[in-house]
Amino acid sequence: MSRKLLVVGNWKMNLTAAQGVQLMQGLDDFFRGSDNVEVVVAPPFTAIHSVATVIDFDKMRIGLGAQNMYWEDVGAYTGEISPTMLKAARVNYVILGHSERREYFDEDDVVVSKKLRAALKNDLLPILCCGESLEVREDEETLEYIEEQIRAGLKGVNVTDMSKVTIAYEPIWAIGTGKVATPRMAEEVCAHIRHVIDDMFGLESVAAQTRILYGGSVKGDNAELIFAEPNIDGALVGGAAISADSFIPIIAAAMR
Ligand code: PEP
Repeated sequence: MSRKLLVVGNWKMNLTAAQGVQLMQGLDDFFRGSDNVEVVVAPPFTAIHSVATVIDFDKMRIGLGAQNMYWEDVGAYTGEISPTMLKAARVNYVILGHSERREYFDEDDVVVSKKLRAALKNDLLPILCCGESLEVREDEETLEYIEEQIRAGLKGVNVTDMSKVTIAYEPIWAIGTGKVATPRMAEEVCAHIRHVIDDMFGLESVAAQTRILYGGSVKGDNAELIFAEPNIDGALVGGAAISADSFIPIIAAAMR
């Protein structure tokens, strides 16, 4: 089964609304859509409305994502953003369980799983992040650790909803460090994730259709080799996604 490559730019806590609009204009000069590659940007909440407006106005073929959300639809949860608010803001993807959320905001697998099911209930497309620390890798426990995160994150997900789920494998030691996993290392874990999904849902077609991204210091000069791996279906990009000059070469590598 062929899977369309997906390149997602996670802007993290970078760029004001005005800077985000400028970046989108830079992307618009280069990317007019592709049959083989899907591009999504995930701005901070404060820039989502402005970015959505540019996408609509310029008829850009770029999807809109959020970097996080709460699992309730509405209520007294000061500082939180709900799935229904994201839908109303024309967001279609939501990144969940990013290692920075797990590390700095104490999100565990139970929280991530609640958010994932809430996203699906509201017809958002979750991008479930997983990834091991350097210690776990050095102890040679990576595959077991990732398997646990995937099984916990996807707990309670209906098989029919799996077509909406994307997985992002992001080794923590490679995020924002300039240390990129070798294509072989990344492929080994992504292949294992596919095997776990196959085992969980008991349908080869579900595993075969699920997109699995790699994230961790992806740049224009290493993206092509990563995308060449059979079980890697694109990238979740952080640092290189906040300027058009560094994001465009990654999109270009996906389009080759
Ligand atoms: C990320 O935060 O998802 C990420 C992969 O960051 P970077 O590309 O900067 O390593």
